[in-house]
Amino acid sequence: MAEPPVPPGGIVGILGGGQLGRMLALAAAELGLACHVYCPDPKSPAFAVSAARTIAAYDDEASLAAFADAVDVVTFEFENVPVQTVRRLAERVAVAPGPHSLEVAQDRLSEKQLLSDLGIAVPAYAPVAARSDIYSALARTGRPAILKTRRLGYDGKGQAAIGHGDDPHGAWRAIGEVPAILEAHVPFEREISALVARARDGTVSAFDVAENRHVSGILATTTVPAAVSDEIAAQALAIAGRIAEALGHVGVLAVEMFVVGARGTPRLLVNEIAPRVHNSAHWTGDAAATSQFEQHIRAVAGWPLGDPARLADVVMTNLIGDDVARWREIAAEPGARLHLYGKSEVHPGRKMGHVNRLSPRG
Ligand code: AMP
Repeated sequence: MAEPPVPPGGIVGILGGGQLGRMLALAAAELGLACHVYCPDPKSPAFAVSAARTIAAYDDEASLAAFADAVDVVTFEFENVPVQTVRRLAERVAVAPGPHSLEVAQDRLSEKQLLSDLGIAVPAYAPVAARSDIYSALARTGRPAILKTRRLGYDGKGQAAIGHGDDPHGAWRAIGEVPAILEAHVPFEREISALVARARDGTVSAFDVAENRHVSGILATTTVPAAVSDEIAAQALAIAGRIAEALGHVGVLAVEMFVVGARGTPRLLVNEIAPRVHNSAHWTGDAAATSQFEQHIRAVAGWPLGDPARLADVVMTNLIGDDVARWREIAAEPGARLHLYGKSEVHPGRKMGHVNRLSPRG
């Protein structure tokens, strides 16, 4: 029997207390839902805007059971929540997205295998389980290549480049000698992301395709619309929809892709998927009829999805590390919409906030 939707007044449990959890909790509040955030870190930015909190480890059985009993549905805001935690919770309460989406997205090898099974193009790759696999893997990918840990990588962490003159064993040491995949370095023209939401009844809704620029492996800016043809944009959204469908995903799903321009005919290669709200869709917070955060809450709570229409052209800029010192200047800038995450400590590379700069469509 289909679960009834979580009505206004209901409680959404969120695993993870970072900025994504914070923005999910704010969106839930707009819909009359309350959030209960579960996170081991007492300084989590999401706590300040949530109705309830649990500060406990992800393997604390008693705390997980109490959390499950206190909420109507559980979701997560980052993909490194242990799958076992989500499985445990799913025995007691509805969880969306389900553990399968999480399991696939946590492991770069399973992710690539799923995409390949679906006939979706990815960069040439090969698994590297041990040091001795590196030369055979390089024979598959060629050089330059990038060695990436299978698990727990983010913002370019857990990656090492292998250029033409480099010793591949140096890259193996650099990533900590853990199970990895080797990928061909893709000479992409641009990076884009497609973000879809899938409702409990299987309805899929897509936001406009976004174009991303990374600096040192961290997202710096997102520009919408992306400078791609309507055909490429449609292909990107179709790919994201197929992945969501194949996973039986409920909630928002982001798919990062490379646009490669082989002799003037652009093609898409999928880089990675994120089974959650995503930095490259922060623009929706000010420039779409429904934000990605509201859309995710609607999906996991079993509500109808909102209108994803884009209302303006927009450039989203992340405020990373010391960039946040410019808050006063940005706050005074006409047309700039400032979002700060309430983090007290500034570290290099830490995402402190973002700003959306809107201009009329077209
Ligand atoms: P990832 O953590 O895999 O998303 O990598 C972070 C960023 O590194 C990507 O957004 C790209 O800018 C770059 N990158 C990752 N993999 C590749 C690749 N195979 N070829 C070229 N650039 C890559």
